Amino acid sequence: MISNTMQEQVKNSSVIRAMFEEGKRLAGIHGVENVFDFSLGNPNVEPPKEVKNAILEVINTGNSMGIHGYMNNSGYEDVRAAIAKSINDKFSTAFTQNNIIMTVGAAGGLNVIFKTLLNPGDEVITFAPFFGEYRNYVKNFEGELVIVSPNTIDFQPNLEEFKEKITPRTKAVIINSPNNPTGVIYSEATIIKLSEILNEKQKEFGTDIYLVSDEPYRELAYDNAEVPYLSKYYENTIIGYSFSKSLSLPGERIGYLVIPDQVADYQNIVSAANIANRILGFVNAPSLFQRVIAKCLDAKVDIRTYNRNRELLYKGLSSYGYECIKPEGAFYMFVKTPIENDVEFCNLAKKKNILLVPGTVFGCPGYVRIAYCVAYYKIEKALPYFKALIEEVK
Ligand code: PLP
Repeated sequence: MISNTMQEQVKNSSVIRAMFEEGKRLAGIHGVENVFDFSLGNPNVEPPKEVKNAILEVINTGNSMGIHGYMNNSGYEDVRAAIAKSINDKFSTAFTQNNIIMTVGAAGGLNVIFKTLLNPGDEVITFAPFFGEYRNYVKNFEGELVIVSPNTIDFQPNLEEFKEKITPRTKAVIINSPNNPTGVIYSEATIIKLSEILNEKQKEFGTDIYLVSDEPYRELAYDNAEVPYLSKYYENTIIGYSFSKSLSLPGERIGYLVIPDQVADYQNIVSAANIANRILGFVNAPSLFQRVIAKCLDAKVDIRTYNRNRELLYKGLSSYGYECIKPEGAFYMFVKTPIENDVEFCNLAKKKNILLVPGTVFGCPGYVRIAYCVAYYKIEKALPYFKALIEEVK
């Protein structure tokens, strides 16, 4: 008999799992080219050529024990130093290897930091719509996820409600920009206001509130949009980064945490995070890929492919009467459903072989997420079905 918590978590993850199974079933019947699976955030752009070159170089020149062995649980010192330097060059920060912990993707990093910070009953605030896995990451350590309701005007965080939801039990706030599922980038004005609120509340309650910035989409920003570097705005910031999307390496499980010197209880946090990485069973981030990404810190996937998809989809859907805001980053579009019930709308879309994720999964019913990291022709082929769908329900 599985545990009570897992029974609940299995039940709650059934929406996306069901979608995945449905995609496979439909592809079996209609052929892969006639099924429009917009449900998964799996990059369809090739990793930059630097990645393959780095893999070959590491394998051909390294001593195999140095490539495949255990190392410090926080990762190789030289890799962490190279990452710190690269961040410093880009954002005028002053990090060293002691501020960097290599992690098993962003997901691994977030679990490490919540293991490090949370006591049972501690509250973690997030803003809807949010990456649904936060529910699990917080629950893993018996924390309570507190959800601030969405601001559906522009999908910047609802800061009035945020202020009211901070309590003496608020241990952390987790934000994600560019955002999954909306593609919105939180503006500098938002970040400044959010930091002011956090500083006020820390003073009022005499507590430390950590701002966890989940940044797997940092490099996927269109039209040269700026993504503010949060440690420059708020002292108690911890950053979770990942190469899953920036280098199209989601299966390789590689990312890092940045824990700046300025965060409260810095020394204990880095020591505990190092141990958390080990005892959660990650032990350390994958060794070969630590070496590989250290050689690719200036490489980027070609986001023109995503940008073309974004333009085509946005133009098409808007012209049919769908309401959505144009994403500024990531590869998701969050679209208001023409009927109130988003789950029902996904079921109707499925009848046309279109797979979408209901907004309910992201704490924002009445919307659907379209992951447009798919072949261009799939969007071209799917658009007439989106048109038929809105005409059918209107
Ligand atoms: N955070 C957000 C907002 C994501 O969208 C994802 C993956 O899609 C993750 C974290 C996990 O990323 P990783 O593959 O780096 O664990």
